[in-house]
Amino acid sequence: MKKIQEFEEEVRRTVEDYDLINKKDKVLVACSGGKDSTTVLYLLKKFGYDVEGLFIDLLIGSWSKKNLENVRQFCAEQGIKLHVVDVRKELGGSMCYLRSKIGKKEGLKSCTVCGVIKRWLLNKKAQELGADKLVTGHNLDDQAETLLMNLLKNRVEMNLGQLPKTGVVVDKKFVPRVKPLFFCLNQDVRKYAKLMKFPVLYEKCPCASEVFRWEIREKLDGLEKEYPGFREKMVKNFLGMVSRFKVDKGKMIYCDECGEASRDKICRFCKLMGNLETFK
Ligand code: AMP
Ligand code: ZN
Repeated sequence: MKKIQEFEEEVRRTVEDYDLINKKDKVLVACSGGKDSTTVLYLLKKFGYDVEGLFIDLLIGSWSKKNLENVRQFCAEQGIKLHVVDVRKELGGSMCYLRSKIGKKEGLKSCTVCGVIKRWLLNKKAQELGADKLVTGHNLDDQAETLLMNLLKNRVEMNLGQLPKTGVVVDKKFVPRVKPLFFCLNQDVRKYAKLMKFPVLYEKCPCASEVFRWEIREKLDGLEKEYPGFREKMVKNFLGMVSRFKVDKGKMIYCDECGEASRDKICRFCKLMGNLETFK
């Protein structure tokens, strides 16, 4: 385990070396109440960045209630302004409702539906709040899993966006997303959050159903035992490779329904929400 100071320096270096945030930026940290986003919120504030928090209340029973309570307490203690977005007020129903309706119709896993909705809301709110950067708590283990999942699901091009800063898409309707914990091991973030006694839940979401991701995690755990440092090498080698190539940034258009940045005429979020209409 890295020492506290070493861990903090690793995050600071990532932010500086990859030019993730500058001191003039208005920074919005997407706070789930988990160890990763709480750690990144704490550290960016400590490093002197202009940070505010954004919590999407998914209304998943006592799980969401506890996370909101934790985030509220933490932000109050740290003197950080917190914005809370209620998914029912925004979209007409709790995440459990939206997932059951949309997921059933589309045959999608609930984590997929939740992910699309969260990303859309985060981007929309970040624009409304005038944020220059949207920060998430993704760590190195998350990155390694995503790389492998995309490879095995035959959507390797999706990996081109898996960088410390989302640089593939540049658009005024798309607030750049940055990941200061990109090079931090999950176990190090966990230990740091525990040592710092952050008020966070360590269990996973009660609705989590990403079986494939868990299988990949187990496989990577196995490989890590056999080849220590495997995940780190995988993420760093990939990053090295991508930065040597000129990546086609792809063309951005605006969704006909919601007006947000999209690759297709109708964005993924509106396609999902469109399916919901049929249940009304
Ligand atoms: P996940 O997709 O749940 O693995 O979360 C990845 C990142 O998304 C977290 O580290 C947070 O930065 C952000 N995030 C997840 N859930 C929420 C939420 N309910 N509200 C705000 N940000 C979130
Ligand atoms: Zn749309």
